[in-house]
Amino acid sequence: MPSVYIKTYGCQMNERDSEAVAAQLVAKGYTLAQSEHVADVILLNTCSVRDLAEQKALNKMENVAAEVRRSRPDVLLGFMGCMAQSRGHELIDRLPDVDLVIGTQKFHRTANYLDDIFAGRLGKVVDVEEESGSEAAIREHLFNGTSTPQSATAFVSIMQGCNQYCTFCIVPYTRGAERSRTIPDIVSECRELVGRGVKEITLLGQIVTSYGKRRSSSFSLPGATPSPDTLMRELQQTGKSAFVKLLEAVNDIEGLERIRFTSPHPKGYGDDLVEAYRRLPKLCESAHLPVQSGSDRILKRMHRGYTREQFLALVGKLRQVNPEMGITTDIIVGFPGETDADFEETLSLVSEAAFDNAFVFKYSPRKGTPAATLPDPIRQDVIEERHGRLLERVNEIGREKYRREVGKRVQILVEGPSRKNPARLEGRTRTNKIVIFEGSDRQRGQLLDVNVTRLGWFTLYADAAILNDE
Ligand code: SAM
Repeated sequence: MPSVYIKTYGCQMNERDSEAVAAQLVAKGYTLAQSEHVADVILLNTCSVRDLAEQKALNKMENVAAEVRRSRPDVLLGFMGCMAQSRGHELIDRLPDVDLVIGTQKFHRTANYLDDIFAGRLGKVVDVEEESGSEAAIREHLFNGTSTPQSATAFVSIMQGCNQYCTFCIVPYTRGAERSRTIPDIVSECRELVGRGVKEITLLGQIVTSYGKRRSSSFSLPGATPSPDTLMRELQQTGKSAFVKLLEAVNDIEGLERIRFTSPHPKGYGDDLVEAYRRLPKLCESAHLPVQSGSDRILKRMHRGYTREQFLALVGKLRQVNPEMGITTDIIVGFPGETDADFEETLSLVSEAAFDNAFVFKYSPRKGTPAATLPDPIRQDVIEERHGRLLERVNEIGREKYRREVGKRVQILVEGPSRKNPARLEGRTRTNKIVIFEGSDRQRGQLLDVNVTRLGWFTLYADAAILNDE
């Protein structure tokens, strides 16, 4: 059978989609190639969130196509995911060596399309149509024995799409409207993972706090197929959103130790979700809260649906539940019309919120989004300068938070060899901080208490001599 190499750009959702596609291909008999240079099929799973990500994937495909044309003309080339969705046939017009363009609702069709192209039943394929129920198709994982080593952590996709329409963001156009999987379906996938040794599950979606809010063809709570009105009534009666109900159901899975989720929207954090951190012992004390800006004027232009004050109040509530709560964020600098005063507001919000870490992005206009046509674009040199200043503030505050961990005893889940130095092991605290220590491979997948001895660059080091599991 042919071998496949998948290169992934972008977010954890894309990583998860690639994993599911790889697992489907392996189940069909394909093998996974270690590099593009020996693969019979090369797939790029793309990201459209910023122009840079699109350019990287386009350049990569140009280089790959040139090499393949010279030496291995039978190799099949394909684009998948967000850029495939937004550009469709244009990708083949631009790069005629490409055989396959698969949109975000068609990942599960990849193996069939490849089979048909190999067998000569199909020529080039572009499939970027909507497909009802496709949100439930991303459920296969790669397990021991098939391709990758057993992992203590896994990602589970709970929904697809986004209805927020933030003015800067292309996601609603590339991922479509919100569609949620059912609770029983998600729980059964989680149980299966736990049965295979997974200890920590991260629930994934473009906007997980909207889980179950919109009716989709396959959505139902256990034993029911509620309409959005029924869900709203239920929320009023029980005080719990569908997302919190899902968290409760996953929390009940025996053998599972930890739950995380990403990405939420700050305005989706009702009191029920804040309280869930207190009530559900497996829910880790960690929240990624994308704030985007500290200025109310810019938040409004971004269509974020909260104010600076509301955001800071949410941070306060979470820290009331647990003062150690790890809080990270995403921030965009250089949104059209962002003045020096707006930017100062962002700097001061970073100080007030005292984030553990933040991703700082330079605004990238995305074709078809409302912000792309807003007046007052910010000059590139100003964006660069603000980006540098904000990163400095983020690093200063974040590292101070990390420094406070030194000397503490923390629980980590050992994930495996450290990415930087495979002779050491790496784990994460419940607040989502990476800890490196010298241990043995048999500790992989274990929960350990370790003593933090020193700080690296957003990495903690623990002393192996005082591990308490010996
Ligand atoms: N669910 C997230 C939210 O609440 O906004 C969106 C996830 S998005 C894929 C990841 C991050 O990319 C966003 O939080 C935002 O900071 C950044 N981003 C999105 N569109 C962008 C753009 N046009 N330019 C720069 N950064 C962008």
